[in-house]
Amino acid sequence: MNRFPCGYYNHPEKDCVCPPGTVQKYLNKISGPLLDRIDIHVEVTPVSYNELATERKSEKSEAVRKRVIKARSVQEKRYKENEGVHCNSQISSKQLREVCKIDEAGNQLLKTAMEKLGLSARAYDRILKVARTIADLDESENIETSHLAEAIQYRSLDREGWAG
Ligand SMILES: [Zn+2]
Repeated sequence: MNRFPCGYYNHPEKDCVCPPGTVQKYLNKISGPLLDRIDIHVEVTPVSYNELATERKSEKSEAVRKRVIKARSVQEKRYKENEGVHCNSQISSKQLREVCKIDEAGNQLLKTAMEKLGLSARAYDRILKVARTIADLDESENIETSHLAEAIQYRSLDREGWAG
């Protein structure tokens, strides 16, 4: 009967009418190895008209653009000796260990996240690379715990029991 979920799972106002497990089953169709190849997944819930219509102060695109260009140039410099590598996402697992060093606090945080969320080795690599990029955008030489925590947030579909 219901081959597809109703679409209201986690909706702020409407109720999901799917039988238990439907959404999880649907999400399971997206295989783990496929998810592992995507750097960032973020859950997006609908925004109400009032929220949309309210004027909010946000960072200007121009400022964001400047920050991105700066981070890209930091990465170009970092990988200038590596042919074909221009940014964090392109580095090998071996290079990752050198470039994406984290301190003991970061290590603990990542270990806990891996265990709690049931993350794969591939997801681990993705998190470190994304954390490196967040640090670059922040003009930080080191990957701080906050950068790592943000990167872990961007793996929402990896979470075991996300919809369970
Ligand atoms: Zn539903």
